[in-house]
Amino acid sequence: MKYIFVTGGVVSSLGKGLTSAALGALLEQRGLKVRLQKFDPYLNVDPGTMSPFQHGEVYVLNDGAETDLDLGHYERFTNGTLSKLNNLTSGKVYETVLSRERKGDYLGATVQVIPHVTDVIKERIRAGGGEDVDILITELGGTIGDIEGLPFLEAMRQFALEVARDDVLFLHCTLLPFLKAAGELKTKPSQQSVAKLREIGIQCDILVCRTEEPMTDEMRQKLSLFCNVPVNAVIEEMDVETSIYELPITLKAENIDSLVIEHLHLDVPDKNMKVWHDVVRRLKSPKHEVKIGVVGKYIELQDAYKSVYESIIHAGIANDAKVNIVRIDAEDVQLNPQKNLAKLDGILIPGGFGDRGTAGKIITSKYARENAIPYFGLCLGMQIAVIDFARNVAGLEDSNSTEFDANTPHPVIDIMEDQKNLTTKGANMRLGSYPCELTEDSLSFDAYGIKNIAERHRHRYEFNNNYREQLTNAGLRIGGINPERDLVEIIEIPKHPWFVGVQFHPEFQSKPNAAHPLFSNFVAAAIKYKK
Ligand code: GLN
Repeated sequence: MKYIFVTGGVVSSLGKGLTSAALGALLEQRGLKVRLQKFDPYLNVDPGTMSPFQHGEVYVLNDGAETDLDLGHYERFTNGTLSKLNNLTSGKVYETVLSRERKGDYLGATVQVIPHVTDVIKERIRAGGGEDVDILITELGGTIGDIEGLPFLEAMRQFALEVARDDVLFLHCTLLPFLKAAGELKTKPSQQSVAKLREIGIQCDILVCRTEEPMTDEMRQKLSLFCNVPVNAVIEEMDVETSIYELPITLKAENIDSLVIEHLHLDVPDKNMKVWHDVVRRLKSPKHEVKIGVVGKYIELQDAYKSVYESIIHAGIANDAKVNIVRIDAEDVQLNPQKNLAKLDGILIPGGFGDRGTAGKIITSKYARENAIPYFGLCLGMQIAVIDFARNVAGLEDSNSTEFDANTPHPVIDIMEDQKNLTTKGANMRLGSYPCELTEDSLSFDAYGIKNIAERHRHRYEFNNNYREQLTNAGLRIGGINPERDLVEIIEIPKHPWFVGVQFHPEFQSKPNAAHPLFSNFVAAAIKYKK
């Protein structure tokens, strides 16, 4: 196996994750088996408990791991399915070291960052790959110079010493700030960042420069000279025009994949980029245009519903449609539903926790139902739709989820009996991939075209089976169930053009070149019923 380490300098939010993912896509295009992983220097054991305000969306893997949203980019750009071994935080590293210490594994030795902490990191570098993997790309979160990042860099330095030189490649991403007053791009911060890396003992092999303006040859020469990398390994990564999915193509134009392949002494032929060209062509010349409203409570945050937004874009690609995503705060809907919802061609309510915004979301779901606007509810969005249906169609007054009202007379969404004894927060969360059996006569079966599917979950509450009969008698359709525990996974309203709520998170399995079938059909319905 070959190893690529990706680090970042100058500022955070450089899009290192996207660069890593796009590089993965390019190498995969060449026929290599690629796996990506993320090391995060912060001390949380995993991102599961972090607020979306702090860290954007929590991305969930098949095995139930709650991970950094960069793993979402990795899975969207490449074909490997990631596991809990592909996201590591300092918190997890220390947890491992300290539990070994308590068990006496260190035989009385003084436990130290070097070698004990770095050893755990090195173990995890190796563990992230797997037998079938040719190239493992490990991205380090944060910026060079962060105190927390040091043990990871040290472990990477040691690791490179232990394997053959042509098995490891260091890629460093930096920013070339554009100074308006001087009218030029500045290379100094990048030089300093590379120097800081060298201080730690790491010489980068490829320098990827994020920039708003094209670099001159002179600048490439200068960066090459001061950063000690060959001039052809100074890569320009300009801001993309329309979409992040152009990135594999723009990076390919800079020959980054050939550089990597040469450096790692791999012998693989160049292949065409048809898949990615197709994606970009569809993005740039759409035949339709629709407006999809996403009604949530973290609307002002760029990354809180990252995978949802990306999945909507994928569905647009699949339908040759430009999708304008309108982000709507659930609390604004409560104040003025008509103003916020009337002009939409489709409405989506994503997942969420806690009571804030639920009133506005219930109004939203009701509005979509009554006005025949295609509706797609994800996790909480499905529960909301059930509450509206119970209250306003089935006549079950004050129906609610026990998450929002423990004393509701009609707990249509509730924690199931077999989970009630697990009371610690998080302990009773249904996490990861679960099977679902679809109802043959349903919108969902139409979308997937197969009967048995598996989707990722992250929730505590469920559709309460005690109300199944009452609600289906009132016109709700059960679109799919979990066969093991007979849990409702999908609800639909047959008397509506397209109304689907799913207890799972389909947004974690959609790709730009393979849109998720439910997202795809949702956007297709929005196009079809556009008023
Ligand atoms: N809060 C709800 C639950 O725990 C929904 C969670 C979600 O949307 N991810 O069941």
